[in-house]
Amino acid sequence: MAVPVAEGLFETGDGGSHLIGSRCAGCGTVYFPQAPGCRNPACDHPALERALLPATGTLLSYTIQRYQPPALFRIDDWAPYAIGLVDLGEGVEVMGMLSGFDLDAIVIGTPVRLVTNALYTDTARGAVETYMFEIAA
Ligand SMILES: [Zn+2]
Repeated sequence: MAVPVAEGLFETGDGGSHLIGSRCAGCGTVYFPQAPGCRNPACDHPALERALLPATGTLLSYTIQRYQPPALFRIDDWAPYAIGLVDLGEGVEVMGMLSGFDLDAIVIGTPVRLVTNALYTDTARGAVETYMFEIAA
């Protein structure tokens, strides 16, 4: 059994994994992570709806994390990894770890898809997963 690293971050079902965001029913603005209210200054709609975000997108930019992040971030078998900025469409750009990329050959514009992978295994919770982006087949 695997659990998300943070509640409400993503869900995995028959259709694969999707990030959980919010969509304003008034102006259509999409937020990730979920937001308590619309931040569009031209919109006064009172409530946002839960929205599953598209599972595919395009890599807009990236950086390589070459030192181990301090506590709070936890990962088993740490090694340098890439963090990408991904355009999921609908006006939403999301940062996430990249999975399966050759760190010396990352190409901006690569089509990517959302996956979930274990960060670490916890004796109380089991495998703790986060979302990542890998090259779309
Ligand atoms: Zn709005």
